[in-house]
Amino acid sequence: MFTLAIVGRPNVGKSTLFNRLVGKRLALVDDQPGVTRDLREGEARLGDLRFTVIDTAGLEDARDDSLPARMRRLTERAVEMADICLFVVDARAGILPDDRVFAEILRRKNAHVILAANKAEGTAAEAGVLEAWELGLGEPLPLSAEHGEGLGDLFHVLTPLA
Ligand code: GDP
Ligand code: MG
Repeated sequence: MFTLAIVGRPNVGKSTLFNRLVGKRLALVDDQPGVTRDLREGEARLGDLRFTVIDTAGLEDARDDSLPARMRRLTERAVEMADICLFVVDARAGILPDDRVFAEILRRKNAHVILAANKAEGTAAEAGVLEAWELGLGEPLPLSAEHGEGLGDLFHVLTPLA
């Protein structure tokens, strides 16, 4: 049994993935970035794996591109609570400056990181998946939280860590 924290900037699909893993709509998903504003914990099932998953959410200031301090603090708290961090980026949007801020937080915290490139369904995401290598956190795992794609690969990455 381990604890996995899903981290990353707003709107990359963290809560969608959390809901898929937990199977109940415990986390709020919305098209408006920054709707969920705290940490949520659930019991995840993935194949025969059972683990605790934490969804991070935070205040996003739509008028400002930089991450509010609260979002950083929540992420740091989640990293401290977790054994493994699933760092989610948006393969459609590509790597944005805020993604690099998160990569830096994770590096500074010495977190065990699995990098996931979400929204990877279809060819529109291919460039973004490749771009994610730039973060220097290893091979990006293509996922589609919304369509349930890539969960088998996530299972194979998590199984040796269980
Ligand atoms: P969060 O802010 O990181 O928690 O992101 P959400 O889970 O709230 O999702 C933000 C938006 O991205 C919502 O409109 C989701 O429906 C959408 N989304 C999430 N996962 C995927 C995916 O795999 N593919 C696509 N195309 N959209 C997704
Ligand atoms: Mg969310």
